Amino acid sequence: MSKTLFEKIVAREIPAQIVFEDDRVLAFRDINPQAPVHVLLVPKRAVPRIATAQAEDQELLGHLLLQAAAVARQLGLEARGYRLVINNGADGGETVPHLHVHILGGRPMAWPPG
Ligand code: 5GP
Repeated sequence: MSKTLFEKIVAREIPAQIVFEDDRVLAFRDINPQAPVHVLLVPKRAVPRIATAQAEDQELLGHLLLQAAAVARQLGLEARGYRLVINNGADGGETVPHLHVHILGGRPMAWPPG
């Protein structure tokens, strides 16, 4: 099966501004930032989207969320707050079929989202 865009970033086949990495996840700056800080956190093992996640992904998903909070802290977002977003499917705004958590911060976020 061909690699997803984010698997290519994980494999360093496509350059990205990496801000954090461990054995299971990679965080890098979004190419089209929607906030002063906009980082994508992805599992290195490609899970297409949250709707297709399986029970066997539970530990990885928990790790992903904990590391999202850790990366937000590392980026200095904890004091003022930040938003985590997971887009799922067409209406959810998903454009890359490799699960990713958007970490957005550096400005107040509107609610409801557009
Ligand atoms: P989605 O719309 O699937 O939730 O989010 C995909 C995100 O990937 C978008 O915010 C988009 O700007 C970002 N993106 C798309 N292509 C690239 C790329 O080549 N490099 C990086 N760093 N981000 C990308």
